[in-house]
Amino acid sequence: MDEFSRIRYWNEQRQDPTLKKSLGVIVDIGDDAAVVSLPYQDESKQYQSETLYTVDTMVEDIHFSSMTTDFEHIGYKALASNLSDIAAMGGIPLHALIAISVPDHYSEDQVMRIYNGIYDCANRYKVAIVGGDTTSSPHSLIISITVIGTVERNKAILRSGAKVGDIVFVTGVPGQSAAGLHVLQHAGESQYQRSIIEPLIRAHQLPEPHLLEGRLLNASNKCHSLNDVSDGLISELAEIAKASFVDIIIDENQLPLSEHMSQYATQSRQPLFDWVLYGGEDYILVGTADKEHFASIQTSFHEQQLQLYAIGEVEQGNGAVWMESWNYQFQLKERNQIVNRGYNHFT
Ligand code: ADP
Ligand code: MG
Repeated sequence: MDEFSRIRYWNEQRQDPTLKKSLGVIVDIGDDAAVVSLPYQDESKQYQSETLYTVDTMVEDIHFSSMTTDFEHIGYKALASNLSDIAAMGGIPLHALIAISVPDHYSEDQVMRIYNGIYDCANRYKVAIVGGDTTSSPHSLIISITVIGTVERNKAILRSGAKVGDIVFVTGVPGQSAAGLHVLQHAGESQYQRSIIEPLIRAHQLPEPHLLEGRLLNASNKCHSLNDVSDGLISELAEIAKASFVDIIIDENQLPLSEHMSQYATQSRQPLFDWVLYGGEDYILVGTADKEHFASIQTSFHEQQLQLYAIGEVEQGNGAVWMESWNYQFQLKERNQIVNRGYNHFT
């Protein structure tokens, strides 16, 4: 198949035309550029908006390996991680562009399966795929996705807004994706109970963007800063602390854990807190919110069967992240600065 037949084969009849119409798509895949009329831009419509743009690239053997990840999951996760960036602004995703570079040794079926994953995610979260670019690649598969989204004017939630006295929260259990990767890379799966390892593998392969959580935080008007956990909890907290010129203090006892992650850490003799603090790709949200309003935000989460865990507080400072834990030997609380160890491509 030539390039054009491929583009058609991957993209034709994948999305409900009424979805595309509702997202303002006027000219779809097939011309030099897509034409869209951004929803909510008109003053008479639902609200006055700002537009969000984000792009993320996944490179085979850096971000994923076809050894540990199914092709469908590669596609799903590539889009989900982009949608997570929109969630972390408190916004709504609308449109996506898919740039893909495919090495010769990939079969047509394998690339189609990647696209199946991309469209599963797009249709689930009501995002219109309106274009892209296709090239060959000498060695590794590369997928770069651009997402365009929207948020009410002046309501994007930034990293720089954390205030002294805020509660620090997470919208899920960090570390499970890293634990799932450990299962896939090290564990002869059969040694472990399926009920322990399956949720971990799923967290790694099929992360869900916390879009609804982002919208609830936006609607609360009391969420001051927000980030998504792509590079590890401490790394994301450090970004907030630095951008906001504050210190963040995490209480070790408040960090949420999951039963299966704790059990797997014990059984595989791995340090649990390395996953929780430094593991990446959970795509949960981490941020800070006004202390007085935290309980009511939490109630709004629970009403939707969503989780919101307080894990610490914001104090005066200049960008450090601290962990408070109980010292059993001396029977007192101690505070240690935590050094960031998140993934960085150029160290
Ligand atoms: P051009 O030469 O004008 O850049 P292309 O041949 O690259 O056009 O693409 C033709 C059309 O197909 C464009 O609408 C483009 O957005 C779309 N397209 C190309 N590659 C992909 C892809 N991998 N996924 C989705 N749409 C794509
Ligand atoms: Mg092109």
